[in-house]
Amino acid sequence: MSFNTLGLSAELLRAVSKQGYTEPTPVQRQAIPPILEGRDIMAGAQTGTGKTAGFTLPLLQRLNATRSGGRPPVRALIITPTRELAAQVEESVITYGKYLPLKSAVIFGGVNINPQIEKLRRGVDILVATPGRLLDHVGQRTLDLSKVEILVLDEADRMLDMGFIPDIRRILKLLPKERQNLLFSATFSDEIKKLADGLLNSPEMIQVARRNTTAELVEQVVHPVDRERKRELLSFLISSGKWQQVLVFSRTKHGANRLAQQLKRDGISATAIHGNKSQAARTRALADFKKGEVRVLVGTDIAARGLDIDQLPHVVNFDLPNVPEDYVHRIGRTGRAGYEGEAVSLVCVDEHKLLKDIERMLNREIPKSVIQGYEPDPSIRAEPIPNGRNQRGSGTQRPWQPKRNTTSQRRGKRPQPNRGGNRSHSTRASGRAFSKR
Ligand code: AMP
Repeated sequence: MSFNTLGLSAELLRAVSKQGYTEPTPVQRQAIPPILEGRDIMAGAQTGTGKTAGFTLPLLQRLNATRSGGRPPVRALIITPTRELAAQVEESVITYGKYLPLKSAVIFGGVNINPQIEKLRRGVDILVATPGRLLDHVGQRTLDLSKVEILVLDEADRMLDMGFIPDIRRILKLLPKERQNLLFSATFSDEIKKLADGLLNSPEMIQVARRNTTAELVEQVVHPVDRERKRELLSFLISSGKWQQVLVFSRTKHGANRLAQQLKRDGISATAIHGNKSQAARTRALADFKKGEVRVLVGTDIAARGLDIDQLPHVVNFDLPNVPEDYVHRIGRTGRAGYEGEAVSLVCVDEHKLLKDIERMLNREIPKSVIQGYEPDPSIRAEPIPNGRNQRGSGTQRPWQPKRNTTSQRRGKRPQPNRGGNRSHSTRASGRAFSKR
């Protein structure tokens, strides 16, 4: 099926073809026609499915069809949970709207508000925003939402996770009652359904496959390893596998910083991306990574979510996520747009319960492969993970802090890993026996 059959205008088809897209993805096939008709939609689609073009293309077409001259009011409002996603969605608006005379802007927190005010003052048709900064502008009366015709809520489930739903409800009250609503969410919890009930008017329901649980483009593997040897194993995997672009997930901001520092000490260029960094630093980190100047980007779930990096071959879960759904979001960063990818999880004894939860959600076991020289020490006991599901005790301990004695003892008897470039895998056959793969 080609894009020509969806009812898109010549200017949009030209922009699509300039991107090199030959055919629409399933969410685009299903979403574009009803959006062009002016219908509300509720779409179950995650990042990587092509959902951004799925709502941006028809939105641009509708706005352009009824455009009037002069300084435009905000006619389409796209709300996203994170700054990165907002920036990327606006990039898509610019890309797909290249041959149309519509103006767009993006507003999010963490950066100076004044250039945003100036841009809004000059007039924009399409505004992409995160909820907090959007409300700041409303509070300062630098933004008028009374002419919004189309509202998009992108990644609504993530907005819920991040506590933005009260902000969203406040924003909804500022919009005209008569409007088109498009809601995108990877998952539909009861709370999202409740939000949708109050928001959408006889919506077209769209559900596309969770790209990476069904698509076999992503090879998933678990490397069992001791908690205090994860960093060493990661450096080994990156160096021996000659991985050039790796996105690594850490559970905490502190952990992300520390890991990036440690990798640098190992001679591997790395940078951390998380919510404590200024927006400028986050944007720079992403740009350096995309350009290939930085080999490893270490991020937390929230910061790394929605990053649009094509052909990312390696994603590493340095820590497993506490929420099984986040695993799918994380591995969805690789194997995109037809490229093969590998999602590696470094799992220590503390995380067995998290791994089981993930496997239950995926409805399958993830293959386990012990790397020779990094076999887990069976005498090490599980420790609680702060905020983890298998938390025991007070939760105030810091399981990531090495215990000096045990670490040095283990280091002393550690077999030397093969650093020759050949990645030497061995697969756990049963119990303590290992066999070469
Ligand atoms: P999204 O799910 O919106 O984050 O899009 C995921 C990626 O797919 C982006 O890098 C897009 O550039 C790309 N993409 C979107 N639509 C298509 C298409 N029809 N064919 C190929 N790639 C696409």
